[in-house]
Amino acid sequence: MSMVRTPRDARWSCTRCGACCRSFTLGPVEPEIIAALHAADIAALWPPAAEAPWQVDGYLTHRDGACVFLMGDQRCFLHVTLGAASKPGFCRQFPLQLIRDPAGLVATARPDCAGFSRSHRVGMPLAESLSDLAGVSVSVPRFAPDVVQIRPDRAVSLSDWMALEARLLADLHALDAEPDVLLAAARTTLGEPGERNPERARLAMRAVIAALSAVLSQAPDDAFTDKMRAFATKAADMQAPLPLSASDRSYFNLLLRSHIQGKSFVPYGSVAAGLGLLVLCTRLARLVSPDDPGTALSAWSRFALNRTLHPLLSRAAPALVDIFRWL
Ligand code: SF4
Repeated sequence: MSMVRTPRDARWSCTRCGACCRSFTLGPVEPEIIAALHAADIAALWPPAAEAPWQVDGYLTHRDGACVFLMGDQRCFLHVTLGAASKPGFCRQFPLQLIRDPAGLVATARPDCAGFSRSHRVGMPLAESLSDLAGVSVSVPRFAPDVVQIRPDRAVSLSDWMALEARLLADLHALDAEPDVLLAAARTTLGEPGERNPERARLAMRAVIAALSAVLSQAPDDAFTDKMRAFATKAADMQAPLPLSASDRSYFNLLLRSHIQGKSFVPYGSVAAGLGLLVLCTRLARLVSPDDPGTALSAWSRFALNRTLHPLLSRAAPALVDIFRWL
């Protein structure tokens, strides 16, 4: 793989928690991977794959809420027995997220990896994880809009954005501070008005949480939605969060820089809305789990990817912009 940019000091290693083998749709799997697993007689090697179909229409099936190939010790049977190359491309890519921008290829780690908050300082340099993608055909989205929306009513040219992005990344990397302070620094670098209105930001947060709670109240009962309903109920209590530990501060700083460099704001229509959502998620995770906000944040991130919730969060962009502008 050609030269790839990653957020400065980004590290990650798999902690083998198995979270990515649950909560996700496990496909589509490449036809050649399915053919190779049939050729290896996977059903004879792994009894659960003989008890029920291990793939249906190109998607791996679940067993007890997890991928059929997840072993009791949270390791992947395919990886352990047949090697990394036997796994579907989406498994090998997780949690890396790639995007091509005018300066080349960017790789970041996804916040929904449950082990990222623990490995972000002690894991391998993120760039080294890219070797796991050797031989995987990855479709890489391209970031090349004519203009980049900072807010819905303010845009800059793509070349101006690339210069702003570089400044934002450098400014944020130099700061060891709480998320609200990082957000204020980002606003300044982006040339956004400096005044705050925490009450207005809190109203916007309440509106987003009320909308999420309404959607969740109609979702069918299962362990996942039960957990997320409890999350939303607890999050409705909008007190000021406790200060973060040094490790969690650096984790949030890395997530923020990864969000910007990986252009994760694109689905929300503007940089402000994307950053507003990230800050809202962090605030909620800290309120729900003050001792381990990183783990709560990864659970929330998996929750936000849910097919019903993702469009709702996209529609909540005006409130997310308010959170960005006023918190
Ligand atoms: S969620 Fe992350 S740390 Fe956990 S098994 Fe998956 S890749 Fe590894």
